[in-house]
Amino acid sequence: MEVIFLGTGTSQGVPIIACDCAVCTSADPRNRRARCSIHVVMGGLHIQVDAAQEFRVQCLRYGVRQLDLFILTHGHADHVSGMDDLRRFCDLRGGRALTVYSNGEGMSRVEAIYPYAILERPVVRGYPAFQLVEMPPAIELEQGTIRSTLLPHGGMNVLGLVFEERGSGAKFVYYTDCKHVTAEALGLAKGAQAVVLDGLRPREHPTHMNIAEAIEAAHQIGAPVTYLTHLTHEIDHDPFEAGLPGGVRLAYDGLKLAL
Ligand SMILES: [Zn+2]
Ligand SMILES: [Zn+2]
Ligand SMILES: [Zn+2]
Repeated sequence: MEVIFLGTGTSQGVPIIACDCAVCTSADPRNRRARCSIHVVMGGLHIQVDAAQEFRVQCLRYGVRQLDLFILTHGHADHVSGMDDLRRFCDLRGGRALTVYSNGEGMSRVEAIYPYAILERPVVRGYPAFQLVEMPPAIELEQGTIRSTLLPHGGMNVLGLVFEERGSGAKFVYYTDCKHVTAEALGLAKGAQAVVLDGLRPREHPTHMNIAEAIEAAHQIGAPVTYLTHLTHEIDHDPFEAGLPGGVRLAYDGLKLAL
């Protein structure tokens, strides 16, 4: 299994517009964070999780050329805003709709923002078409299984995702945008080679885990490596990562995992 981090920043991105802080003006490329999404290749199947404002640029930058299915974790702007650019992948699929999995709230956001794309086929070449499907507890594919669980994120629930590749047995967990990792989510994550958790920033936040909460969840899951994502400009990559406990790292844009 291969995972590419297309973006690892919080909803405003890093640098923030008109901010002169040390991180926003840093020369370290790992302090430049587009909004969060990942691209997973499981048994040759290309799965895109979320489409940020930078989705098109991220695809060009990291060589995403194929997309077989799309999963929207939730309907917040930083995860849904790039979906119009999925049009190119409808073209590459020979003008077929792309299957879009989400929860009920995510599906209604997609219907509200992209009513012109809820179609069996694109209207004309170059247009997007989404076939909305409610995310089941597990999608069984010949390449592997994608399990989902609900994570609390303020007033809404976010899809937490667990990928298990059939051929290799590789297991990867992606829990972004959450205030807690529930008991069910902890159970599903057991045995993963790599886990990604919402880490945001050192200070507490009402709808995201802060760094200390994410470290606690990482220890409860006990994976060999946990990457924190959805990071703000309060996190200076190098010095901050040096202070993290063993097995907990910071994700950065362009990071690739081979599991
Ligand atoms: Zn977000
Ligand atoms: Zn800043
Ligand atoms: Zn969110």
